[in-house]
Amino acid sequence: MSALVSPQEIVRSGLCIGCGSCVAQAKVPDVQMNFDDYGQLKPTGDSAWFNQRSVSFTQTCPFSPEAKNEDDLADHLYPTAEQQHPSIGRFEKAYVGHVGEADFRLQGSSGGMVTWVATELMRQGLIDGVAHVIATEDPQTNGRYFKYRIARTEAEVRAGAKSRYYPIELSEILKIIREVPGRYAVVGIPCFIKAVQLLRREDPVIRERIKFTLGLFCGHMKSARFVESFAWQMNVPVNQVEQVEYRLKDHNHPANWYNAQLTLRNGQKVNRLWWHLADGDWGAGFYMNSACNYCDDVVAETADISFGDAWVEPYSSDGKGTNVVVVRSPVIEQLVANAIQENRLELKAVDAEFVHQTQAAGFRQRREGLAYRLTWQKKGVKPRKRVAPDAKTPTRQRKLIYRTRYYISAWSNRVFKFARQLQKPQIYYRWARVAAAIYHGLAYHQGKFKEMFKRHSELKG
Ligand SMILES: Cc1cc2nc3c(=O)[nH]c(=O)nc-3n(C[C@H](O)[C@H](O)[C@H](O)COP(=O)(O)OP(=O)(O)OC[C@H]3O[C@@H](n4cnc5c(N)ncnc54)[C@H](O)[C@@H]3O)c2cc1C
Ligand code: SF4
Ligand code: SF4
Repeated sequence: MSALVSPQEIVRSGLCIGCGSCVAQAKVPDVQMNFDDYGQLKPTGDSAWFNQRSVSFTQTCPFSPEAKNEDDLADHLYPTAEQQHPSIGRFEKAYVGHVGEADFRLQGSSGGMVTWVATELMRQGLIDGVAHVIATEDPQTNGRYFKYRIARTEAEVRAGAKSRYYPIELSEILKIIREVPGRYAVVGIPCFIKAVQLLRREDPVIRERIKFTLGLFCGHMKSARFVESFAWQMNVPVNQVEQVEYRLKDHNHPANWYNAQLTLRNGQKVNRLWWHLADGDWGAGFYMNSACNYCDDVVAETADISFGDAWVEPYSSDGKGTNVVVVRSPVIEQLVANAIQENRLELKAVDAEFVHQTQAAGFRQRREGLAYRLTWQKKGVKPRKRVAPDAKTPTRQRKLIYRTRYYISAWSNRVFKFARQLQKPQIYYRWARVAAAIYHGLAYHQGKFKEMFKRHSELKG
């Protein structure tokens, strides 16, 4: 191994996604995952540990330049995969559709497939527990709205349905998996599944016990500040927010009209379409974790099965929600094929190009955009990616969009922090409206000022 790295170097270089794998492996007390000033989870604790360069950390941190990349991992995990594609990786089959059985689809963010696969693995006796993300019971005391936990019954698995665009981390559940014998499945975004696969290579207990990995396609990780911004913009006190729903399902609206709902301690519910929020355009990159700038896995290429939203017509207009699914494990492929036969799943086979099209924007950002960002000067640890630096291919217009997104991500964190310290939300959302309007004009209207002003007025209301 040529260059060892420490947690401190990964964090300082803006490459820490906050997965918690390093904390799970720490052998000293008081090492924890905590929120930083921007509402992102980061490892903290004993400085000797934090500054220690080690082989184990260098091999298992998903953003370490010396760790195996997604191609290496997938070659090893799925050597007999039927298909291989530059964006989707190795896989057996891909599908579009939704769950037909019970109310999985209604309860899910998309077509309900993640919860169905996790439940089916349990019903078939293939696992004893599922590590997934649920709402915490008392977020105001707990300090977090969501966390990982291990579900051990079907009812518990089903209670975890829905996407949470909120920082979560694996340290606690990895410790439990190491301590409590059993067969587990882990649900996670691509970089978290990569962290799990890297750890499985190094730790025989984790390898033996984590039997299945269920990956979510991923655009980027938001910070915890997104929830506070919802509250500010919906005019409710942040310290009264008890529950957060990022995507309230409404069959009368297209699936891509995300509707955020907050439930307060007194039972009052308030909601707003993301489109009417200053920071609600996903593509603009508000509150994005800086590590996401250096990510090249959109579809969880190292997961046994991965799931996304079918963001192409006619599916994106169907408010009931539709999944795209990429299957890599032959065992899971058999479960899925059986359930299609029994009409429990309504899925039809698609090819890799279809899957790519459903995530076209994500791939632009993580291929062409990443290649461009890799040509910029960067302090600290240099990420090693599967994409080569390239500033020649993107057009001027695309470069401007990548730059704008990058600055919106970085500055949304800083401006929010400043406005929060002063308790003056208007400082933040005045800035956010201007930033969103500029992004809107650039991304959707070839930079026309008229469209930027129009969008700014819409957001002002
Ligand atoms: C941060 C993030 C970004 C995403 N970006 C995209 C994207 O760009 N394109 C796209 O097509 N899809 C994206 N997804 C996936 C999408 O939101 C749906 O999760 C996916 O389509 C599965 O829907 P479902 O109805 O099958 O899942 P459900 O049946 O609703 O189950 C969702 C499962 O995911 C778990 N979960 C929820 N939040 C998290 C989390 N933060 N980390 C780990 N597990 C979690 C839940 O506990 C549950 O097990 C993203 C998800 C997340 C969490
Ligand atoms: S990305 Fe994960 S393993 Fe790497 S430093 Fe951050 S928390 Fe630790
Ligand atoms: S974009 Fe990549 S690095 Fe960022 S949260 Fe998603 S998978 Fe992780």
